[in-house]
Amino acid sequence: MKSLIKKLVETTAPSGYEANIRKVIEAELKGHVDSLTVDPLGNLIALKGEKTADNTTVMLAAHMDEIGLMVTHVDENGFARFTRIGGVFPRNTAGGRVRFLNGAAGVIGMEPHSSLSSVPELEKMFIDLGVSSAKDCPVEIGDVAVFERTFEDLGNRLVSKAMDDRSGVAVLIAALQQIKSTPNQIAAVFTVQEEVGTRGAGPAAFGINPDLAIAIDVTLCGDTPLDNSSQVRLGDGPAVHIKDAGTLADPRVSAWIRQGAKAAKVPFQTSIISRGTTDAYTIQTSGAGVPTSGISIPCRYIHSPSEMVDVRDLENSVKLIVQLLSNQVKL
Ligand SMILES: [Zn+2]
Repeated sequence: MKSLIKKLVETTAPSGYEANIRKVIEAELKGHVDSLTVDPLGNLIALKGEKTADNTTVMLAAHMDEIGLMVTHVDENGFARFTRIGGVFPRNTAGGRVRFLNGAAGVIGMEPHSSLSSVPELEKMFIDLGVSSAKDCPVEIGDVAVFERTFEDLGNRLVSKAMDDRSGVAVLIAALQQIKSTPNQIAAVFTVQEEVGTRGAGPAAFGINPDLAIAIDVTLCGDTPLDNSSQVRLGDGPAVHIKDAGTLADPRVSAWIRQGAKAAKVPFQTSIISRGTTDAYTIQTSGAGVPTSGISIPCRYIHSPSEMVDVRDLENSVKLIVQLLSNQVKL
């Protein structure tokens, strides 16, 4: 699991530019699924198990994309101004390093700022690529970058950029590798453009028309000093994700997930968050509607360059999904 997650987080793939990560996932899944296709938006769809008149098609979604930056202007001295791709917060940005799709590296600087204890808006920041003129700048308007930060193995805890949602991607890959046969049809979708408004998952669900769905993503923890915003704790197991700013999970699907966790003997938690949402939002409301819930992986420091997960939560999420999909699914 650790080597898989390292490979996934070290791949550069901001929203809308998922080709690099899609290739890595395809290589991992070859030989473990019945078919692999890419839909018009770039979602990677892996099918496993036959569709029959009386079985259930279960869609599982994990998003491939990560937050990033896009160059909006390069000035005459070669400094690049930028805009955000997804939830990039100024406080997590100052002093950071970025890596462009073309390999160019840069550091984020800011205009003179009167306070040492606050940060200005992104509009007052720029990327310094180590050049002195626009003509020497290795990037131009429209080029995209992600945060550059090495993967750290702290034992049970793993730290990197893009744990949101490469940890969900890793869980879904490992589950597909471990499920030997299924009486259901599994439609595992590695979605695009989640971080800019869950834009990929809805069209994918429309194309698949599943009977029910689960979004696999990260969720906030409330287990650091003075934080009581969530009851979710790192290392205490995957969470059934029942409410966020975009979704109320279908209670039947959530109950089925809880029963599966008990049967698989994995610890589980309940996730309720007031900000943000997941692919469940657009899957649930696609087509004529899809009963949808979520399995969320606890994660600290979400949308910072140092997101932290616990490898035991990833392994328990895999166990849970294998348990759920190896048996006949009926709501
Ligand atoms: Zn996410």
